[in-house]
Amino acid sequence: MADIDKLKVTVDRDACIGDGACCNDAPETFEMDDEDKAVVKQGGSDSRDAILEAAQNCPTDAITVVDKATGKKLYPED
Ligand code: SF4
Repeated sequence: MADIDKLKVTVDRDACIGDGACCNDAPETFEMDDEDKAVVKQGGSDSRDAILEAAQNCPTDAITVVDKATGKKLYPED
């Protein structure tokens, strides 16, 4: 199972400023839509670490990552 399938990844569209940084860190997980907001792609093979790095590097903390198995929020931490 790909790492993306074990994670619930969401982008807060209101918080996203469209700089595209997440698309560089995890290009198979994030892409920009026609409104210059990041959206989550399914079926990519980015590693869990790459996805978490993208979330950590987002300048506005617009990306939330939750472990589906445990329900634990991996980023941002509470
Ligand atoms: S890194 Fe954050 S602000 Fe930049 S495009 Fe991705 S979600 Fe949007």
